[in-house]
Amino acid sequence: MSCDLCGKSGATFLVRIEGVAYDVCSDCRRHGEQIRTVTPRKRSARVQPDEHLVVRADAAKVLRDARSKSQKTQAEIASLAGVKTSEWQAWESGTRTPTIALARRLEKLLNISLTEQDVVSTTTVSSSPSSQEFTIGDLMKKR
Ligand SMILES: [Zn+2]
Repeated sequence: MSCDLCGKSGATFLVRIEGVAYDVCSDCRRHGEQIRTVTPRKRSARVQPDEHLVVRADAAKVLRDARSKSQKTQAEIASLAGVKTSEWQAWESGTRTPTIALARRLEKLLNISLTEQDVVSTTTVSSSPSSQEFTIGDLMKKR
C-alpha cells in the first residue's frame, strides 16, 4: 500500500486528517491523528481438515475387507451405510468411489480408514493463500 499523502510505498499507519482516514508512511503520520497501525492482513492459513482429505486409492479393498470382517452381506452393510446395495457394490468393485462425506461416515461406522490427507493440495493451498477454494477446485480439474 502506498502512502496517501506522499505516494511512497510502505504506508503502515492509518491516521485521521480533518476527519478523513489516510494510509500514510511513517514520515507523514505526524500530519494526522493516528487511528491505528495498519497491519498487513494475513489470511488465516487454517483450513478445514476435510478439505484436504481424499478417498484412499485402495478404498475398494478396505471396504471389501471391512465387510468380510463384519460378516454382513452387501445389502446389509449398504443399508447400514444408508446407500443402495448397487452403490456399495460399485465401491467394492472400485468402479465408483464414495464421496468424502460418505467415506467419513463409513470410517466411523466400520472403524476403518478410508481417507487420507492429500499432501499435494495441502502444499499448494498453503503456498497460495489468495483463494483456497479456487486452488482446490483447480486441482480437481487437473485430475
Ligand atoms: Zn508519506
